[in-house]
Amino acid sequence: MNYRSRAIILKTIDYRDADKLVTLFSEKHGKVRAVARGVKKPASSLRVCLQPFCHSNLYLSGGKELENVTQGKLIDFFPNIREDIDLTLQVLYLMELLDKSLMDHMALPSLYSVTLTVLEYLNTHGNNPLAIRYFEANLLKYLGYQPLLERCVNCGTQSGKLQSFNLVRGGVICPECSKTLTSDFDFSGEALSILRLISSRDVNTMHRIKASQAALKNLEFFLEKNLEYHLERRFNMKKTIRTLKYL
Ligand SMILES: [Zn+2]
Repeated sequence: MNYRSRAIILKTIDYRDADKLVTLFSEKHGKVRAVARGVKKPASSLRVCLQPFCHSNLYLSGGKELENVTQGKLIDFFPNIREDIDLTLQVLYLMELLDKSLMDHMALPSLYSVTLTVLEYLNTHGNNPLAIRYFEANLLKYLGYQPLLERCVNCGTQSGKLQSFNLVRGGVICPECSKTLTSDFDFSGEALSILRLISSRDVNTMHRIKASQAALKNLEFFLEKNLEYHLERRFNMKKTIRTLKYL
């Protein structure tokens, strides 16, 4: 099968001789792994459009086991992200999340569009932890794991304090139900309000949301716990960011 698709480059690794193995999130076919032949040669026109987190228009052709990237044209390099080491690490973490959570050849056009808007947002507005949390919350949503936040996941009540979260059931639980169900996580009131907000809004409004450091920490921990639970993987890039921050 030969086709053309827009794609976001998730990662590249060295492959035979001058070739690289590229993992990309394509708009038409979801996650695809493909060989880019001769890409390490200085004259290769593919070099520029196959850098991690580039947005490119690619031509692909089916091979026996792996597809081949035959041609490409860069759409966006996100230069402002690349100038900021901290932001680059954050974005590489988002690419890692996608790489570890997407199934091969399963198209998710809405998640593709969210990824693109988050990259454009970060390139324009600079680092904003809420934009990263926005991406994580949307990733959970489009993978089918959106947390239920509006009513108790067990009895359905909307009244009372709904700040405990049960991971197995995937939602908040009321004080009565938390007598029998495990509370895996406790939200602060502020963090829960922010999560409800970011789940219902567009990424371009993220810099208008006010959040305390404590609420941001609470929210980061909640989304990390959820992603780890559902994806059952450790996120190496997140660990790297943490190590670099506390050096
Ligand atoms: Zn309940």
